[in-house]
Amino acid sequence: KLTSREFKQTPTIVNVGGVEIGGDKIVVMAGPCAIENKEIYIDTAKKVKEAGADILRGGAFKPRTSPYSFQGLEEDGLKIMAEAREITGLKLVTEVVDTRDVELVASYTDIIQIGARNMQNFRLLKEVGLYKKPVLLKRGLSATIEEWLMAAEYIISEGNQNVILCERGIRTFETATRNTIDLSAIPVVKEFSHLPVIVDPSHATGTWKYVSALSKGAVATGADGLIIEVHSDPNCALCDGPQSLKPSKFSQVMEELRKVAEAVGRTL
Ligand code: PEP
Ligand code: MN
Repeated sequence: KLTSREFKQTPTIVNVGGVEIGGDKIVVMAGPCAIENKEIYIDTAKKVKEAGADILRGGAFKPRTSPYSFQGLEEDGLKIMAEAREITGLKLVTEVVDTRDVELVASYTDIIQIGARNMQNFRLLKEVGLYKKPVLLKRGLSATIEEWLMAAEYIISEGNQNVILCERGIRTFETATRNTIDLSAIPVVKEFSHLPVIVDPSHATGTWKYVSALSKGAVATGADGLIIEVHSDPNCALCDGPQSLKPSKFSQVMEELRKVAEAVGRTL
């Protein structure tokens, strides 16, 4: 299999316009769950940049549980993201939920995100496989590691080798956290695959207070990066406020992470 260590022994480093994912440096992606308006987004973007993030996140097409929840600003949101990149120099990661929007999303973003709910949307996986643009493939809510790697196989077998895996918590019987983070997935993926793997402690826990501990755990267990939700005013967020860090807290987490990165022989 193209994702396997047998096929490729050396770790894959995905290059996102000069930002290398899978190398010595732990790459941090941060930003709000969704782009809500220009003011808040640009403000948050500047603050995550200042704290040391490498890549800016934000959803323009939101896969919401309820059809009545905020669905995202679509292309208007992508335009705001592009402006934030212009201002901060940060690279962009944003989700695509429909094959019909892949071309549009790819024309704005630096990394195309496939969300947990679409991990086995095979047509969508094949479509993003036709591009050269890096793809962030989130683990499905109840996907095994094998199923997750097979999803990556769909993308790579179409010709796009730039796949970054993302552990974002799985469904278990536990209800104290939004999902259960599977940190074992990191060493397991590293053993069986050459692909880089990052962790999303925000969607994994659903609670901003737990983000610091799990971010450190992820770096300690060998993750190549993190994707963290940060909002300049979480109480007013239209999506995922309870799990979003304020910029000042994010800064603090970055400082703590630097020490853990150093302890495992990496930089941040
Ligand atoms: C997200 O990152 O915005 C998101 C919806 O995450 P997930 O697909 O992991 O639920
Ligand atoms: Mn979110």
